[in-house]
Amino acid sequence: MEGSFNLLNPETYYPLRTINRDIPVPRVIALRDFDRLPQRHVRFSRTHIFMRDQYTCQYCIRELPKAQLNLDHVMPKSRGGKTSWDNVVTSCHTCNRVKGNRTPQEAHMPLNKKPKRPAGSLGLLNFKNIHHSWQNFILAD
Ligand SMILES: [Zn+2]
Repeated sequence: MEGSFNLLNPETYYPLRTINRDIPVPRVIALRDFDRLPQRHVRFSRTHIFMRDQYTCQYCIRELPKAQLNLDHVMPKSRGGKTSWDNVVTSCHTCNRVKGNRTPQEAHMPLNKKPKRPAGSLGLLNFKNIHHSWQNFILAD
């Protein structure tokens, strides 16, 4: 398998330097046995919504510090909108106030993108400088 540990291919390991010699450590270790499934779903939280939306207001597309952002219910809560991955987006205070108790259509404020639950781990998705030998192992959207 591409990406598996191979001493002839230095791309698949990194050298752990010791006093006398380098010990090759695999970059990717295959999990052959486990007694619990790894956590597949990212927990719903304010911070995770911000991370998913990359701290960007989904209406005016401005990237802002956390203190200037809040959560907006696409379908307002007062009209039965759920607090869920697909109905909550990052919004700046101004857009949140302007949109008020309306849907994006009613307010003529189109969403940057349709909100949904992130596919994998937010931590891994946000980790930009990942070694290419990991590419086969990370679930993309
Ligand atoms: Zn905004």
